[in-house]
Amino acid sequence: MGLCVRSVKICPGTTFCKRGKQDSVGLGLKLDKKIPRHAASFQIQNGCFRLPNSCSETSIKDIGIMGTAKGFNLTVGGSAGPSPRLGDLVAKDLSEEQVLDLVEKIIDFYKGYGKPKRLGKVIDEIGIEKFKEGIGL
Ligand code: SF4
Repeated sequence: MGLCVRSVKICPGTTFCKRGKQDSVGLGLKLDKKIPRHAASFQIQNGCFRLPNSCSETSIKDIGIMGTAKGFNLTVGGSAGPSPRLGDLVAKDLSEEQVLDLVEKIIDFYKGYGKPKRLGKVIDEIGIEKFKEGIGL
């Protein structure tokens, strides 16, 4: 599929899953409307951080958002494929508004970087601290 825009992918969250901690469907729909169609892949996953039955796909998405009892945790730079990379945790216990704001900043930073690389490769190139600085963390 290449470096094109992928859809926001969401797990059932509190809408359908008994283990859900946050409304991933609601946040996913808001993100889907907000995200311009130019970045790489996104995953929103809900619930179960650190529990044995946690679904783990957020860890291999460019931007992973995981709901917890306290809000949302956000990881960046994950990818699957032949050279898998686990996303780096950059923010915890965010509100929905903070997630939307931070995702926008990440996309702006990615656009400004100007190289057609997956986000994880960008982070490996510049270092996680510089990346965090670039998105205002
Ligand atoms: S991540 Fe949690 S809430 Fe989402 S489908 Fe998996 S178990 Fe359910």
